[in-house]
Amino acid sequence: MRSLYIGRFQPYHLGHQAVLERIALESDEIVIGIGSAQVSHTTTNPFTAGERVAMISSALRNLGRWFYIIPLPDIERNAVWVAHVRSMLPPFDRVYSNNPLVVQLFSEAGIEVRKTPLYNRDLYSGTAIREMMMAGDDWRALVPPAVESVIDEVGGVKRLRNISEGDSQP
Ligand code: NAD
Repeated sequence: MRSLYIGRFQPYHLGHQAVLERIALESDEIVIGIGSAQVSHTTTNPFTAGERVAMISSALRNLGRWFYIIPLPDIERNAVWVAHVRSMLPPFDRVYSNNPLVVQLFSEAGIEVRKTPLYNRDLYSGTAIREMMMAGDDWRALVPPAVESVIDEVGGVKRLRNISEGDSQP
């Protein structure tokens, strides 16, 4: 059983990690698709695809399952997105997602979709973590230590603050 988990991972946090640990119990191999791979350096998508690959691969070092991490650029036509995803990934048997559009598109294509429980969604949320970073609050306990290191390495907090200051200008 090879499973697919798709997300933007802006940034990858402990909620994503808990989901992947659960998927690992139900799968032989996992494909992790990094959505919106072409976007970075914005307040909602601060990190590049490569930075997100670094976060996830270091955080999952001890997962105990073979996994692939593959960046997926968005396309403008939702109706053919599943074919686009399939063209970029190893074959997969099942998809895990709670994103309503992702669930809808894979279900229409006849692919099994499993929803996952939400872990501490108020805090384990990319939006909440990015807001904490911009406000100077302590976000570090909400991501795996390996992710914290990557964010520090690339100056992620400073980048996000600089970008958000730009947004507030006329
Ligand atoms: P995300 O990083 O917000 O979330 C990834 C998954 O983790 C989701 O299923 C979400 O429910 C889950 N999750 C988040 N916090 C959690 C928590 N605390 N506990 C448990 N689970 C949690 O990413 P997303 O927005 O779902 O990513 C979908 C990607 O697919 C986007 O990049 C989107 O652009 C892409 N997409 C593209 C097209 C297109 O190009 N036409 C169409 C559909 C989707």
